[in-house]
Amino acid sequence: MIDMNRRGLAIAAGSAITMAAMGLPVMAATPERKLGYAIVGLGGYGLGVIIPQFKNCQHSKLVALVSGDPLKAKKVAAEYGVPERSIYNYQNFDAIKDNPDIDIVYVCLPVSMHAEYTIRAAAAGKHVMCEKPMAVSSAECEAMIAACKKAGKKLMIGYRCHFEPHNLEAIRLARSGAIGKLRYFRSEHGFTTGNPNAWRLKKAMSGGGSLMDIGIYALNAARYMTGEEPVAVYAKETTDRNDPRFREVEDMIEFQLEFPSGVIGSCMSMYSANQNHILLMGDKGRIDMEPGTRYDGNKLWVGQDRSTQVTPPPGPGLTQWAAQLDHLSQCVINNREPIVAGEEGLRDIRLIEAIYRSAREQKRIALV
Ligand code: NAD
Repeated sequence: MIDMNRRGLAIAAGSAITMAAMGLPVMAATPERKLGYAIVGLGGYGLGVIIPQFKNCQHSKLVALVSGDPLKAKKVAAEYGVPERSIYNYQNFDAIKDNPDIDIVYVCLPVSMHAEYTIRAAAAGKHVMCEKPMAVSSAECEAMIAACKKAGKKLMIGYRCHFEPHNLEAIRLARSGAIGKLRYFRSEHGFTTGNPNAWRLKKAMSGGGSLMDIGIYALNAARYMTGEEPVAVYAKETTDRNDPRFREVEDMIEFQLEFPSGVIGSCMSMYSANQNHILLMGDKGRIDMEPGTRYDGNKLWVGQDRSTQVTPPPGPGLTQWAAQLDHLSQCVINNREPIVAGEEGLRDIRLIEAIYRSAREQKRIALV
């Protein structure tokens, strides 16, 4: 195993190159002020994952909560030191405009609510972090981008893998020619979904099935690993419509992406098997990640097989989420565009729409 952390100067050089490659500003001197986030939606991700991350941030702090459950909100507020006057619900949400502590609203709601709360947050004069997938349609994504632009506010999508050390190192290796000329990309992303009544399995709330929720990691990785935009897609869906989980949304969808250089992307998305894998093949070797996009425990190999495991240099933050939260705060402070702005979310949703169309019409869809 190569421990890149022990390579002295290579760490600083490597991580600076990686961050520069990703368009991330190399950390400036710490400003005095931390930007205040309001978390909208105290569910599995907002409460379970994001809120505990503010302790790892340099430029961001938790200042407000938006929830439909006042008792839960009060309890969370007490635990994290949020004043009771900064607890909102979905009805009085727009009153956040009068709360100067709130700089950024983080939308952690079911997908069908992303557009509404992003647009309302921008109208209230706040910057927005919105979870992936950006919205249920490209038309909604466009409306979100327009609303933030009109209000003069930043819009970023919660693509945490762009701040995750293994992914950043894999991108750096791919760009450095470590595996020669790229030939193909493969990724399988899936998990076994359970409760048929969950919002993820209701098309009106989720916009679609496994592709919207988990397959989007394969799609986004195909783009950031190759550094190219697909020119055509071809997809095939396999869903057992008698399974009560899949009455409204797809289970398995396999999609091929054609890139301008001739690189082929081949991806599988599913809601009925647990898999998390990214493989980039070049004419001189491969970059392999399994798991590749998990919260932790990601693994990276480079070479001819899995004999050389790479420990990546430290990423831009203490954790991928701290780096993600601080990136938007720094973009606001320095008036820069986030590396994963609304347009990045829109690109994925346009591709997802083309993938669904290809599966429906059973034909290759050219994108240019
Ligand atoms: P969840 O079901 O656990 O939480 C959703 C929250 O929205 C709950 O607090 C719920 O009460 C609230 N809500 C408000 N109105 C609702 C309604 N009408 N129906 C259902 N819930 C309603 O979901 P989650 O897993 O926290 O997902 C939230 C968002 O975060 C989604 O966009 C999801 O894709 C995203 N997410 C991202 C990651 C990641 O790694 N980036 C991981 C998980 C989830």
